Amino acid sequence: MPVILHDTLSREKRPLLLKPGREVFGMYCCGPTVYGPAHIGNFRTFTLQDVLRRTLEVAGLKVKHVRNITDVDDKTIRGAQAAGQTLGAFTQGWTDKFHADCRALGLLVPHVEPSAIEHIPQQVAMIQALVDRGHAYVAKDGSVYFKVCSCADYGKLTHLDRSKLETQAKNSAGEANDADEYERESASDFALWKSRKPEDGANFWPSPWGEGRPGWHIECSAMSLAHLGATFDLHGGGIDLCFPHHENEIAQSECATGVKGYAAHWFHNAHLMVDGEKMSKSEGNLYTLLQLEAKGFTANELRYVLIGGHYRGPLNFTLAGMEAARPAIAKLERWADRLLALAGFSRADFAAPSSHEVQTTWGRFAPAWDILQEDLNTPGCLGQIFTVVGENGEVSPHQAREDVCGLAKILHALGIVLFVPKPELGVPAAIADLGARRWAAKQAKDFAAADRLRQELTAAGWTMLDRKDGFDLRPL
Ligand SMILES: [Zn+2]
Repeated sequence: MPVILHDTLSREKRPLLLKPGREVFGMYCCGPTVYGPAHIGNFRTFTLQDVLRRTLEVAGLKVKHVRNITDVDDKTIRGAQAAGQTLGAFTQGWTDKFHADCRALGLLVPHVEPSAIEHIPQQVAMIQALVDRGHAYVAKDGSVYFKVCSCADYGKLTHLDRSKLETQAKNSAGEANDADEYERESASDFALWKSRKPEDGANFWPSPWGEGRPGWHIECSAMSLAHLGATFDLHGGGIDLCFPHHENEIAQSECATGVKGYAAHWFHNAHLMVDGEKMSKSEGNLYTLLQLEAKGFTANELRYVLIGGHYRGPLNFTLAGMEAARPAIAKLERWADRLLALAGFSRADFAAPSSHEVQTTWGRFAPAWDILQEDLNTPGCLGQIFTVVGENGEVSPHQAREDVCGLAKILHALGIVLFVPKPELGVPAAIADLGARRWAAKQAKDFAAADRLRQELTAAGWTMLDRKDGFDLRPL
């Protein structure tokens, strides 16, 4: 049975299959803009994309996963200037932090992680193709705009009401576009190339239309073309990217290459809410992984919570939900321990799913796997897992082996890890932060800093116990 997934473009559930003659399933996901910490709403998207990739791989597809880094736009340039850093140093710092969070959350590393700045020539070439084909025009100041009226099926992804086009006058951050708006022939036309402005500082590149920088939308079109070709299998992103970003990607790509069917399948996930409210800086509810770790939660627990709702519906994040993750995972661990003993396996066997890959058996977890394959129903899958775990009755060693293989595979698809060390809940944030900084210093072999931080912990009445793979914090 192939994995079935809802497609935003056709509004139908469709099977995800390799195209005839192709060996890999090409998957492009819009990546982070690296100007600050990614929050748990961003990570809901990246985690669900990771679950999709893992599910496809467990189902036997070879996936090529491309996720870009947006390292040049208004926000990154402003952030670098405010920090007194070069754009490169500023975005590298935030990229490194993003990668650290991805590792902690168990997100598989994309096969290609292209950066916008590394693909300026490809973006310029694509803009040139659009100009040559009459889909773009150069304004007096050297900016280049996409001519929306030249694209007959513009808006097909969101089944766009043309009156909505006026919102193009705003950029992705909801701010009004540059003052050169009057240069545009129509308010719905969007910038492919932005001519150099004094406030851009040193951040400009040469082009046939003068110095400047690319617009945001063209990045993803150029990078997906470079790494997956003119058409590929699946494009993912948060639902907020549907319009205008993904509509613009389709229009640019199909008009530049002349090939229809840019992405065969569109995978969009709904928002994350916090305590029933929309997440926003002003609400003060933009949690980051670091903040949750400082409260004593683990990244694995956050992952469990983030996949606890169906991707097509909003997920309401609460700290009470986070607290419920630990006992739920502990219940799985107790069950797995019992079955591992019955099967004659060790915990290490369970942690290495590759050793089970040859096994086609799912044991009693076959229904959970079926549910996951049906529109990536992660909450239904988790519910079915707990149904099995809650079953009473004798289990034979043979059944135990099958069950353990099945559970290991399904948890691998979900990216949930059992038997990982957990900090004590209730460690004060400042103490957890000291502990994390000392651990990082030790990993970086900065022993002087590690010693200093240990002294600070001792002074605060805490001790840190190091293990091979982490640490525990205990009151003295
Ligand atoms: Zn994108």
